[in-house]
Amino acid sequence: MQGKSFLFQRKPRLIKISMKKIKKYIRKKSLSKTLWKKAFNNAESALIAMINRRDKDCQVASDCAVSGGCSDVLQMDHGLVSRKHKSTFFEPRQMILLCSKAHTKKTFKTHGFDVIVFEKIRNREGSFFVDQMLNLSQRIKKWSIQELEEMTKQFEELEKK
Ligand SMILES: [Zn+2]
Repeated sequence: MQGKSFLFQRKPRLIKISMKKIKKYIRKKSLSKTLWKKAFNNAESALIAMINRRDKDCQVASDCAVSGGCSDVLQMDHGLVSRKHKSTFFEPRQMILLCSKAHTKKTFKTHGFDVIVFEKIRNREGSFFVDQMLNLSQRIKKWSIQELEEMTKQFEELEKK
């Protein structure tokens, strides 16, 4: 008999969470994700604009000239460490402005453009910086909205003339 009443006492309690609460939670979660993504995109746009002001033109134009010249479209390239790595994503010193033709050639490693771009940045920033970037890229970095907003402001102020 005792065992039976024990079982009765252990009857699981119903956890009451209304659908309204669940929906509110999901909405809040996806809203903060949207806000983060927006802040991230803003920071990236401000960085791209700043690199355009700084570099002004395709930085490997002399190499492009050998193979048919530059294209009109300019693109910012993550020169040393790929954009997959978030810790080095916003480092202006590893960015370089390329024409879209050079950018494609660099991406697919054709005509040695990967090496050309790498050397260009190493000459500009020095070997120590290159090592620093490669080390930093191994770290996991999660940018906060506040950090992203601060960077956006910084980028907007840089290279202004
Ligand atoms: Zn070019």
